[in-house]
Amino acid sequence: MSSSSPNRMILLGAPGAGKGTVAKGLVDHLQVTHLSTGDMLRAAIKAGTEVGMLAKTFMDRGALVPDDVMVALIAERVGQDDCKAADGSAKFLLDGFPRTLPQADALDDRGLGPDAVIYLKVDVDVIVERLTGRRSCPGCGAPYHVTFRRPKVDGICDICETALVHRSDDQEGPIRKRLDAYNGQTAPLVDRYRAQLVAIDGNQSPSDVLKDVLVAVSAAG
Ligand code: ADP
Ligand code: AMP
Repeated sequence: MSSSSPNRMILLGAPGAGKGTVAKGLVDHLQVTHLSTGDMLRAAIKAGTEVGMLAKTFMDRGALVPDDVMVALIAERVGQDDCKAADGSAKFLLDGFPRTLPQADALDDRGLGPDAVIYLKVDVDVIVERLTGRRSCPGCGAPYHVTFRRPKVDGICDICETALVHRSDDQEGPIRKRLDAYNGQTAPLVDRYRAQLVAIDGNQSPSDVLKDVLVAVSAAG
């Protein structure tokens, strides 16, 4: 475990860039809680909460969930004990948040702006191949791929043994809409965070991406 990593980290990149994959690797090396807003929303849908039911209407068509819903969700979550460093200050690894400029403002307004932003840069044809072939664990959120990361037992999560699913938004129509939402609403964050941002070549193998991210994180720590 490293103690020299930045406290508040953001993983930025298009859907399918490899944020969840790199996050799973990072938590094995750093003492930090991984917060995936996509996983949080899917858990809310599964639990049948009001937020989940509302979010589903946006997620199914590849649109972003409204900012006020997302900000309330993340503000509540980062206040929990597992998002605090030993000295009580906020410590977390955000994956999928912020996705808009107002969401970034909401972090700043709460004094929770990032110390480091890791931007995974991936070519668009690679992204589409990754998303169409992704298989996801609804239990622990671990991402698999029909070609690039097969589970040990076909269709079963290596970590929690839950049956893997092909997410309904990992189909051609919603993928196109999610990429449009990324280009229109999320990509401007690259410029917004230029002072804290480290760009990583996300086209590489998962182990090479993780290696580069670990170097970047320790330099920023
Ligand atoms: P994101 O969280 O950014 O949406 P994921 O981490 O879920 O992306 O990755 C999308 C898909 O691509 C998954 O199927 C994952 O197994 C696969 N993948 C992730 N990183 C790589 C990589 N470096 N090389 C090949 N496949 C990858
Ligand atoms: P992900 O698992 O990160 O690919 O997110 C899946 C879907 O959840 C997105 O396509 C959005 O509909 C929704 N979502 C996740 N995070 C956010 C966010 N920060 N803002 C708005 N919508 C989000």
